[in-house]
Amino acid sequence: MSRVVFLKERCKGCLLCTQVCPKGIIALSGEMNQQGYKIVEVAPGKMEQCTGCASCAMICPDTVITVYKTVKPGQPVKPGEPGEEVARVNG
Ligand code: SF4
Ligand code: SF4
Repeated sequence: MSRVVFLKERCKGCLLCTQVCPKGIIALSGEMNQQGYKIVEVAPGKMEQCTGCASCAMICPDTVITVYKTVKPGQPVKPGEPGEEVARVNG
């Protein structure tokens, strides 16, 4: 399983990431950041569909997105925790 993390305050709501995600799981969240931009998220309940391809992170012009992938199959993804078995793909 992969995991995508957004730095909300950098997002400008350009929606480029929504267009390149092969799974179509990134969408507007309904939230606005402090700069007044509508921001995106992985739609609730859809994170399991993420393949960790990192297309979203690569296309984002504002380095909002970091993608974490499991290194060992079957290991839980715990970014930021000690002993994590994840890799920072981009962002
Ligand atoms: S890593 Fe790939 S599958 Fe996952 S949200 Fe980004 S573009 Fe979509
Ligand atoms: S490409 Fe980056 S700035 Fe644009 S909506 Fe996605 S996360 Fe936000």
